[in-house]
Amino acid sequence: MSQTRAQKSTVHVALFPSSGMGHLTPFLRLAASLAAEEDVRVTFIAAHPTVSLAESHALSSFFTSFPQVIPKQLCLLPLNESSSDTDDPFYRHYEAIFLPISRAINLPNYVFFTSSARMLTLFMSFHRIFVAKAMPGSQDNEDVIEIPYQEPIPVSWFPPPLLEEEDNFLKNSLTQNGKSMIDADGILINTFHEFEQDTLTELNSTKMPRGLPPAIAIGLLPPANFGESHSHPSAWLGDQPVGSVIYVSFGSRTAMSREQIRELGVGLVRSGVRFVWMVKSKKVDQEDTEDLEDVIGQNLAMATSGGAANGIAVKRWLNQSEILGHPAIGGFLSHCGWNSVTEAVWHGVPMLAWPQHGDQKINASLVRRAGIGIWEESWGWGERDAVKGVEIAERLAEMMRDEWLKARAATMKEAARAALGLGGLKALLAEMRPSGARLDG
Ligand code: UDP
Ligand code: UDP
Repeated sequence: MSQTRAQKSTVHVALFPSSGMGHLTPFLRLAASLAAEEDVRVTFIAAHPTVSLAESHALSSFFTSFPQVIPKQLCLLPLNESSSDTDDPFYRHYEAIFLPISRAINLPNYVFFTSSARMLTLFMSFHRIFVAKAMPGSQDNEDVIEIPYQEPIPVSWFPPPLLEEEDNFLKNSLTQNGKSMIDADGILINTFHEFEQDTLTELNSTKMPRGLPPAIAIGLLPPANFGESHSHPSAWLGDQPVGSVIYVSFGSRTAMSREQIRELGVGLVRSGVRFVWMVKSKKVDQEDTEDLEDVIGQNLAMATSGGAANGIAVKRWLNQSEILGHPAIGGFLSHCGWNSVTEAVWHGVPMLAWPQHGDQKINASLVRRAGIGIWEESWGWGERDAVKGVEIAERLAEMMRDEWLKARAATMKEAARAALGLGGLKALLAEMRPSGARLDG
């Protein structure tokens, strides 16, 4: 008599991501990797409704492709906007679903941290830095912040809300969550040793205070291909020479100022570099209803849709990982959300880093350190004074002709793929069998 998969399972993992594609995407990739294991049963819990359409689409195509994964919905009550300390819809959602990690259920409990190991060092220690200094960076002439047991981090790389005097969502959540992560059995990170060697070594060194959970590098998680491939400009890309095109995108939730979008358009055309540009003018996709020509201007919209310019612009969701894997792509202008960084590394694509929010400068510093991209720090966080098109054009062209970056990116791609076989995740599963486990995000 044949056994069903459920009967054979020795490990049952439940995953529960926070809001936004930046969290959902790596959780789905993790779920896909776990579901590929013969004896692992996966339950995927998703908060409902989602903030963006991208999230609900991703969930439904995932469940169609992985019928063996058990879907669960956590239905949210309507959110009370007035009692929230943020106006960011993703953060508000996150506030509503936040479940303190509980030891009471008596099961192994892991946190999947969806940024870099380096960002984790700040996340884990912020409550201590914060208590010690009232506000990091408040001391005059201090340009780096000491991170206990770790390399210091320049003040200018800190997510800006952490430097504010007033209370805000990011400060509160880092203070609370940083403390409670200590209760986890382990912290999974979508990174690998060659990319963040020093930080991972330090995080797991015996010099660290006892009782801290191990930091487990499980990456890079391969971009899972499920559901329909979102239509992408493959026809146009297919006509371009190998490695000649730069892909331009600032992720799923960054809306640049109108002025900056226009300067970026000027820069792209002026650079002469072939490009595919994913234009986004609102943080949440449902609200992003303006026509492309209203956002980038009629002339540019015409030139970039009919092939008259050196590239194309689109204003809709594109399958980024698929595009980065296209042979015509030779560079990536990115905000350095951690998933974007991992996808660029996975496909061996050099980057021009232009961080916009949160952890992105810390991530950009890792791109620069690994030698796989350039970061023009003087461009700051975006938003303030718009960076001029002329300057953008120069950096773009510089990045695209840099042979050293290409070679480094190719080496790092090989290392990422080799790291898969070594499997932080496989080792973790081996440790879990035969007891149950739960993952929190
Ligand atoms: N993404 C995509 N198409 C888009 C925009 C984003 O596939 O048009 C994906 C991207 O590949 C990545 C995720 O959405 O996997 C965004 O996560 P990231 O950490 O890079 O940035 P965030 O959106 O959280 O700022
Ligand atoms: N934000 C975002 N994507 C992120 C991180 C933050 O859209 O990955 C939002 C954030 O919630 C806030 C705004 O962007 O509403 C500005 O964030 P930033 O960290 O730049 O802080 P600020 O510039 O306001 O000091």
